[in-house]
Amino acid sequence: MVLTITPSTWTAEDGSSLYGLDRWGDPYFSVNGRGHVMVQPRGDRGGSLDLVELVRELQGRDLTLPLLIRFDDILEDRLERLHAAFERAIAQYGYTGRYQGVFPVKCNQQRHVVEQLVESGRRWHFGLEAGSKAELLIALSLVDDPEALLICNGYKDRRYIETAILARRLGRQPVVVIEQADEVERIIHASRELGAAPLIGVRAKLSSRSTGRWGSSVGERAKFGLSVPDLLATVEALRQAGLLPELRLLHFHIGSQINDIAVLKDALQEAGQIYGELTRLGAPMGYLDVGGGLGIDYDGSRTATAASKNYSLQNYANDVVATVRECCEPHGVPLPTLVSESGRAIASHFSVLIFDVLGTAGPPAAVPAVQAEEPLMVRNLRDTFATIHATAEATAQATAEGATCCDALQEAWNDAIKFKDDALSAFRLGYLNLPQRAVAEQLTWACAEAIAGQLAQLPPGTPIPEQLQALQAGLASTYYANLSVFRSAPDTWAIDQLFPVLPIQRLDEAPTGLGSFADLTCDSDGKLTRFIGRGQEKSLLELHPPRPGEPYWVGLFLAGAYQEVMGNLHNLFGSTNAAHIRLGPGGNYLVDHVVRGDTNAEVLQVMEHDPRQLLERLRLASEEAIGRGQLAISDARRLMAHLESSLGQTTYLQS
Ligand SMILES: *Cc1c(COP(=O)(O)O)cnc(C)c1O
Repeated sequence: MVLTITPSTWTAEDGSSLYGLDRWGDPYFSVNGRGHVMVQPRGDRGGSLDLVELVRELQGRDLTLPLLIRFDDILEDRLERLHAAFERAIAQYGYTGRYQGVFPVKCNQQRHVVEQLVESGRRWHFGLEAGSKAELLIALSLVDDPEALLICNGYKDRRYIETAILARRLGRQPVVVIEQADEVERIIHASRELGAAPLIGVRAKLSSRSTGRWGSSVGERAKFGLSVPDLLATVEALRQAGLLPELRLLHFHIGSQINDIAVLKDALQEAGQIYGELTRLGAPMGYLDVGGGLGIDYDGSRTATAASKNYSLQNYANDVVATVRECCEPHGVPLPTLVSESGRAIASHFSVLIFDVLGTAGPPAAVPAVQAEEPLMVRNLRDTFATIHATAEATAQATAEGATCCDALQEAWNDAIKFKDDALSAFRLGYLNLPQRAVAEQLTWACAEAIAGQLAQLPPGTPIPEQLQALQAGLASTYYANLSVFRSAPDTWAIDQLFPVLPIQRLDEAPTGLGSFADLTCDSDGKLTRFIGRGQEKSLLELHPPRPGEPYWVGLFLAGAYQEVMGNLHNLFGSTNAAHIRLGPGGNYLVDHVVRGDTNAEVLQVMEHDPRQLLERLRLASEEAIGRGQLAISDARRLMAHLESSLGQTTYLQS
């Protein structure tokens, strides 16, 4: 259907602005003169790649779509920016302590990702945060820098605690953070038994208000953390056990994607005071860990809304540094080393999911040829269609004169709906046959299309009645996407997360259609129907009609955090192919790693099916069918060949 955009004057900048690339994409994503999305993996330090060319060349290497492209340079750039922001803040506020971050492994546990972060973070003694035994294993084995911190969060049993204590002897720096009141007893017990103590932290349950999806991470009902009475009891227990000298760190985490900087400030003030109190109680302390929560501006609006945040990375660092200083200095408390556990803010930008559109479906709006002896309702619909065309000039005239121009269109649409309902009733009663009903439906859609076409000609800002707006939406197309949202973008389904989604080519061409995406799963929830807009989200996205014989590639951006591990095997769609890309010295690129997606055999095995046994059963069934003369031997061979080769292939559709 037609939109209120003027195709003839459309440029790549219009494309960039429509999809918000100029707002959320900076400095990593932009559009080039050919209308392709460009990637600047090193941010504003130079070098860029044409994403369309890159996908084409990766396909040449048999990396079929859907494809996850990870730009390792972006990961490194994010790390640099985080450290640069804290360094600037520390200089600006004359902070005498340091900043030393950790990456929360739960955000993206992929080996190459964690290895890359550990490697790039070496110069800042960047560490890791673990929330489970398996994550602790990753952290202990990958971080060999004796100065880097290993923050141990989450529920802890004896083994978890003993592992952390013993790892100190390997020259690592694990900090066991007490999150539940009963953990202190286990720590004391394990320390006695091993004759050694861990570095100890405490997680405070703050009373500060929070907002947004993860707002309940603070307050008295929060899942983790010690209330103030528990905190005091813990300090006492540690003192009695002679472990108070090991209490070094205060931790808090007020939830992911903090939208409003004011919320962070309140939490910092409260935590800063608690930190000071802990030193007065005799704990040596030294570290204040402000947790995660540094947000991502998914829609580029810079507002305190769910898909955005009202502060920059620099604002965040400034607030942490300045507030902690304000809390500690007046009371003579030595300034702590500042730790943060930013996950989303580090890992979101670096991976881009590219999927292809397999086809589209829209309403059948072609005007059907006149049949012999058409029933009355069908003739009425034809008359209505003619009326709409006749109003075109009148509408333009009325608009120019400032009249309420939509009246005639609204009236015509009411008629069309009435005649269509009549036709449906007649069909139910047996007065209309199936071909006649089809003509009635087609004519109704043709009326809708004609009305939408006229609405599109109206000057921007013309008020359009609600019913006619709904008509525009009803004409939208479904774009069939070669992907599973449950596997690749589960947060869109589970928590209504918005990610920027846009075609990566033809941005220099006006998108003349409206649509949303349906995925490959047989689940009506398997769709993408919420998109970022200017200020408010949209239920339909401006898209181009795919051209025959030409791929239409769509990118889902800012999805490097949480999506991979949260993704599931619904309908047995497995992981997608993934490629790690590095920018080379001459502006070329290097395919650093390739991770092949799950094969059908692999996902079957996850559910404890034996692919070979499945095949064998089918072979026997086909032998029996051959015996009964129902299946030719050559067809049986073809069937078995298809089954066998699909076991070794990806779970997605192949063009
Ligand atoms: C999840 C989590 C984080 C990471 O949060 P982000 O919003 O991704 O920065 C940090 N610390 C703790 C304790 C967490 O549970």
